[in-house]
Amino acid sequence: MNVLVINCGSSSLKFQLINSDTEQVLAKGLCERIGIDGSLTYQPEGGEKVKSDKPMPTHTEAIQYVIDALTDAQAGVVKSLDEIGAVGHRVVHGGEKFASSVVITDEVLQAIEECNDLAPLHNPANLIGINACEILMPGTPMVAVFDTAFHQTMPEEAYMYGLPYEYYEKYKVRRYGFHGTSHSFVSKRAAEIEGRPYEELRTIVCHLGNGASICAVKNGKSVDTSMGLTPLEGLVMGTRSGDIDPAIMEFIAKKEGLDIAGLMNMLNKKSGVLGLSNNLSSDFRDLDTGAKEGNKQAAVALKVFAYRVAKYVGAYAAAMNGVDVIAFTAGVGENSGPVRADVLGYLGYLGIEVDEEANNTRGEEITISTPDSKVKVMVIPTNEELAISRETVALV
Ligand code: AMP
Repeated sequence: MNVLVINCGSSSLKFQLINSDTEQVLAKGLCERIGIDGSLTYQPEGGEKVKSDKPMPTHTEAIQYVIDALTDAQAGVVKSLDEIGAVGHRVVHGGEKFASSVVITDEVLQAIEECNDLAPLHNPANLIGINACEILMPGTPMVAVFDTAFHQTMPEEAYMYGLPYEYYEKYKVRRYGFHGTSHSFVSKRAAEIEGRPYEELRTIVCHLGNGASICAVKNGKSVDTSMGLTPLEGLVMGTRSGDIDPAIMEFIAKKEGLDIAGLMNMLNKKSGVLGLSNNLSSDFRDLDTGAKEGNKQAAVALKVFAYRVAKYVGAYAAAMNGVDVIAFTAGVGENSGPVRADVLGYLGYLGIEVDEEANNTRGEEITISTPDSKVKVMVIPTNEELAISRETVALV
């Protein structure tokens, strides 16, 4: 079956068409600047990537262009929509309602809408994408795959904040966690590589990209993760602060005359390694180059980033009473040997020994610990689209 995987943002839409039998990507692409002007980037398997301007007042037009491209006589990869068996939608927040992926029905749509408050930037966009597909592909089964679902197995001690209980009761203020599709995919793959049952392994997945989070997976279940009610908590990220003393908000607000929106913008967009590097860059390649050229703030940003990751790994090793596998994934985790080496440099006490040559590789699945290492350390490229496609097929 061919599965169309859709990841809809407020003004963008990423897609892949995957043959679920061979797990081959038949075509992929991106619609950008939806609601502004609009462009479609489309690449069929083995073909050239082509970007063209297209008017996209809403997501419905964007998805129509995607369908047109996929069924195009020249560059298309299917003859008609009949060859698309199902659509898998990434949905950011499933709150406490969704502990797994679901086939989309009217009731599911309503329940997703009820989670809008928890992810006001993401969930409404995800719903728009689902609605647009329902208009253009009526009758095609659709599945929602939630970023939060994998973490619904966290115990109370991991998900409750030290806040008045009434906020949990009234508003469901608690930790949810994100990147669940990636943490699930990578931890399962780690068990396969290790040749041990998923249900018996203790794995720490470090998803280090522009957004970054860590997850403790014990016996096949997420037992803790570093993001919280929103993706702002936890690690220092590309532009997000991660954990801070909450009182900093009042302090800076008074000094800089910022309101809540200004503060949130600062914490989400101007902080992280971008802020720490004094606005040099949020991209770790630039920071690496900067640090090598003697830019002190770039070096500090990299050190703070690695130190925070190492602290979380230590915390999760404690939470699971040990760790068998540490897996690095996402843009930085897959590609940056120096960042991995910095993180692992703190973890010698766990009996970790790094194979430096293996750690110098980029973007491929590889074990980077030595055979003697007490904890296996792996690089496992994540593939959220493939994971969404698998979930979709399993449900339809
Ligand atoms: P992601 O959010 O998973 O797509 O990761 C994107 C980030 O990965 C970029 O912002 C870069 O910081 C990082 N990245 C990509 N390639 C490299 C590389 N070769 N070395 C270091 N960082 C990289």
